[in-house]
Amino acid sequence: MDVRPGQLVVISGPSGVGKTTLLRRLLADLPHLVPSVSATTRPPRAGERDGFDYHFLTAEEFDRRRRAGEFLECCQVYGRQHWYGTLVDEVAPRLARGQWVVLEIDVEGTLSILERFPEAITIFVEPAHADQLRDRLRGRGTESAEAMARRLEVGGRELLEAHRYRHRVVNENVDVALAEIERVLMAAGFPAAGFPAAGFPAGGFPPAGTPAAVTTSPSDSHEAHQEAES
Ligand code: 5GP
Repeated sequence: MDVRPGQLVVISGPSGVGKTTLLRRLLADLPHLVPSVSATTRPPRAGERDGFDYHFLTAEEFDRRRRAGEFLECCQVYGRQHWYGTLVDEVAPRLARGQWVVLEIDVEGTLSILERFPEAITIFVEPAHADQLRDRLRGRGTESAEAMARRLEVGGRELLEAHRYRHRVVNENVDVALAEIERVLMAAGFPAAGFPAAGFPAGGFPPAGTPAAVTTSPSDSHEAHQEAES
C-alpha cells in the first residue's frame, strides 16, 4: 500500500494582507486540506467559536499545556499581549494519516515549526505595495488610529522576515494569489484527487514529549492593544 506522510503548509503575512479570506477560499477549493485550529489566550471576538476559530484557553490552562509539552510551537505573538500556539494533537494524527495540514501562524511560530519540520511548505502573503495594508485596515473601520498605527508597525516588521519563507505570494488580487498558492501546493505534490488510505509515515513524527519551542516577544508583551481580525 502506498502510504505517504502528510505535509505541513504554513501561511503567514502581516495584518490586513487578506490571509483570512485567502485561507477560507483555499479550504473551500481544497476540502481535504485540513486547517489546524490554534490555541490562544485572547478572548473570542464576536462570532468566533471555541474549537473552530481557536481553542480559547485561560492563561493558566495554556501554561499547563505548554509545560506538558502539548504544543508544537507557541509564543506570545509580537505586538499582542496574548499567547498563541499549535497543539501537537491538531497536527500529528493528521500527518500520520497522510493528510496535509495548514497552519496560519506568525513568523516566530514558523521558525519553530521549521526546526522540527524542515520540509514544511512555507508561504508568506505580502501586499503589492505598502499602502495596501493601511487601506485595508482603514476600510475595515474597526480600529482606532493608535491600534492601526500599531498594526502597521508590526506588519512592517513582519515584512522584513518574508525572505525566510520558501514561497512569497503577492495578494493584490485574491483570485491570482489563490491560484498561486494552489500552484505551489500542487507542485509540492498535494494529492488533488484525495489522500491515500490511512497509515503512518516512514519517517515518523518528531518524538513525543519533545518540548515545543517557546519564544516570547518581551518588547511589548505587557502592552494592551485593540484586537481585530487579521
Ligand atoms: P488574531 O488574534 O488576529 O486571530 O491572530 C493574531 C496573530 O496570531 C496572527 O498573526 C496569526 O498568524 C497568529 N497566530 C494565530 N495562531 C497562531 C499559532 O498557533 N501560533 C503562532 N505562532 N501564531 C499564531
